[in-house]
Amino acid sequence: TLLVTGATGQLGRLVLDKLLASGTKPARIIAISRDTAKLADYAAKGVVTRQADFDDAASLDAAFAGADRILIISTDALDAPGKRLRQHLAAVAAAKKAGTRHILYTSMPNPETSVIPFAPDHLGTENAIKATGIPYTILRNGWYMENLFLSLPHALSTGQWFTSAGAGSLAHIARADLAAAAAAALIAASGESKTYTLTGAKAYTTEDIAALVTEMTGKPLQVIQITDEQLAGGLQAAGIPGFMIPVIVSFDANTREGHISMVTEDAATLSGKPLTTLSSFLEANAAALA
Ligand code: NDP
Repeated sequence: TLLVTGATGQLGRLVLDKLLASGTKPARIIAISRDTAKLADYAAKGVVTRQADFDDAASLDAAFAGADRILIISTDALDAPGKRLRQHLAAVAAAKKAGTRHILYTSMPNPETSVIPFAPDHLGTENAIKATGIPYTILRNGWYMENLFLSLPHALSTGQWFTSAGAGSLAHIARADLAAAAAAALIAASGESKTYTLTGAKAYTTEDIAALVTEMTGKPLQVIQITDEQLAGGLQAAGIPGFMIPVIVSFDANTREGHISMVTEDAATLSGKPLTTLSSFLEANAAALA
């Protein structure tokens, strides 16, 4: 059996879809959520759904029972320091208790050197997985292309894209390509331990992305390089919740300092499919930028 946590999430659903599309029998798939009602569409297809909350160890023990391979999709808890690592450590402990034969985990690129405040959550989880002695696959997921839609619509509406990423470049990857890689890794997991860094096929600076977007939409988009402090001030003025401001600023700093500039072939190698290019992704989502 193949178990997927965070199965209701945008990545988790795509992983389930890829598993089913690749011919995995629904009854071999266990999908986890805090609220299984949200998985009713998959239950209707024959996928086994189980309730678990990473904040409730007993629920994890029950939900993970009998799972041969477990894909732990990192949670989205960034609101309290230490919470996400605690959640992930509970999931790793439950996987060990359940006697699972392979643990897979969605981490992030370069958690050792990254300046992002949640990097230690990922590194700590990776280390805890390694300490179990159970074979593992670490999927160090690069930044989603979808994240660009957090800033691009507003930037396009004003014609100005503020960033402190400087000349740093980044190879965004489509969420669906990460899901395909994760599903393939789950199917292929054979007791061998591996760490992959999953990125898009080409790295772009913010100016490169702005040029692509302008070419596609015909709308001018000027990139304005500012300092981290100025960026934090702008985010505060825009009403972004306080706990998110240092996180968002750190994304640009992390890019500027080159911690996420790598380009690998791991995602296409795992899934056996060519990756979505940034231009085709933007074209496919043109409506969001209109
Ligand atoms: P979503 O926000 O769509 O999904 C988050 C998932 O986490 C949900 O399925 C939710 O399940 C699950 N979850 C949250 N808290 C708990 C908990 N206490 N117990 C059990 N499950 C929990 O994120 P995505 O699917 O888009 O991305 C997956 C993960 O990747 C994110 O959670 C985050 O860690 C990371 N991420 C990576 C990005 C990147 O660019 N690489 C960008 C954004 C996030 P439910 O509510 O059903 O219990």
